[in-house]
Amino acid sequence: MSCIEHKTTSSPENGEAGRDYNPFDVMEPRAPLKTPVDRKNGKHVKANDIPPQGVYLPNNNILAPHMKSPEYVQLSTAAAITLGIMGGRMYGCECTRCLNLLLTYPEGCRANCAYCGLARHREADRDYADRNFIRVDWPAVPMADIVDIVAQDPHASSFHRMCISMITHPRSEKDTFTVLKQWTDRIDPDAIPVSILSNPTTMTRDDVQRTKDLGADIFTVALDAATPELFDRTRGKGVQSPHKWSKYWDIMLEARDIFGPQKFGAHIIVGMGETEYDVLTLVQQLVDLGGHSHMFCFFPEQGSLMDHLPATPRDQWRRVQLARYLIDYRDVRVDKMRFDELGRVTDYGISEAELSDIIDAGIAFRTSGCPGKFQDDISACDRPYGDSPPSDIASYPFPPKKKDMKRIRKQLDIPVMLE
Ligand code: SF4
Repeated sequence: MSCIEHKTTSSPENGEAGRDYNPFDVMEPRAPLKTPVDRKNGKHVKANDIPPQGVYLPNNNILAPHMKSPEYVQLSTAAAITLGIMGGRMYGCECTRCLNLLLTYPEGCRANCAYCGLARHREADRDYADRNFIRVDWPAVPMADIVDIVAQDPHASSFHRMCISMITHPRSEKDTFTVLKQWTDRIDPDAIPVSILSNPTTMTRDDVQRTKDLGADIFTVALDAATPELFDRTRGKGVQSPHKWSKYWDIMLEARDIFGPQKFGAHIIVGMGETEYDVLTLVQQLVDLGGHSHMFCFFPEQGSLMDHLPATPRDQWRRVQLARYLIDYRDVRVDKMRFDELGRVTDYGISEAELSDIIDAGIAFRTSGCPGKFQDDISACDRPYGDSPPSDIASYPFPPKKKDMKRIRKQLDIPVMLE
């Protein structure tokens, strides 16, 4: 495969200032402001003490009711539409194949990650149950209602997988066990397997083991940042948040030991200031350990500490998507690839013809995550429009069509081969 020379001039496909990547010095989060005492720790919500009643749709009430896990969980808008709990339609897809659940508390998540809509600093102006997360609202629903609906016929369900996102809260381990047990008591995990999106900061090896014993199939760790420096800046000391890179790795290695090969992985957000070489080296490290990477394209989440920063230019994102797919599923090694002085991929390490076939199959550009029932490289977790608007799709929640492929090739700067 001949080398690709990247342009850095302005083009509609490029990001701000004509760059085709997000550099470290630009991607600085703003500092969190001080939270007024009367808004700290969900005080404002708890003071009202409104009893929860059925489904809670974000922003419909002035105050979020006093809802908490394990009785209540939040679920993605896509999952709520698929379950019939909410009305609405999604561009290009009829449903989601993953039931993404989020533990919920009036105090919310106690961490302060710079890119996240659920971060603690938001308690100053938005109740937890009303916060946007990965670009969408998350209605709160009694867990028993969700189980009742899915348990009617798990084999006929649209869901290929269920996932519990733990968030950072003193009760999150205990409540995760309860929610998981409530599910596996009624729904055969072989019919709809369960993934855990863990909160390593407060977890022990025994906690990881417990999720496995209760029927979880895959255990993931949201590293999110691709390097220790970026992790500290976006999720640790840099934003008064409690997370540590080393603890995340400790828990991921415990999961590797307990869950085994192909049953653990890490979430990584692309475009927060790491180089393409950094992120793809991490992807290779995970593959060498026997795990997988699940990639997200950075999007400036409204209300987050990075909402003033540019989304990942599509060029950077497509290169990383394609290279990650080759490392994860086609046994291409990062050391076979070539990079320029800015760490951008210039050579994918396979022949032009092979690369062309893989691009045209389109799977590399679909949402990545835990597998569903179709095939190993097609994720159940399709997160419709979780990392981009439908007008400029980053992760395709459906198989890209001909017009999408044309656009993707343009973003990759790899034209269609002539016969
Ligand atoms: S721990 Fe997770 S939910 Fe909490 S702020 Fe960080 S990314 Fe968001």
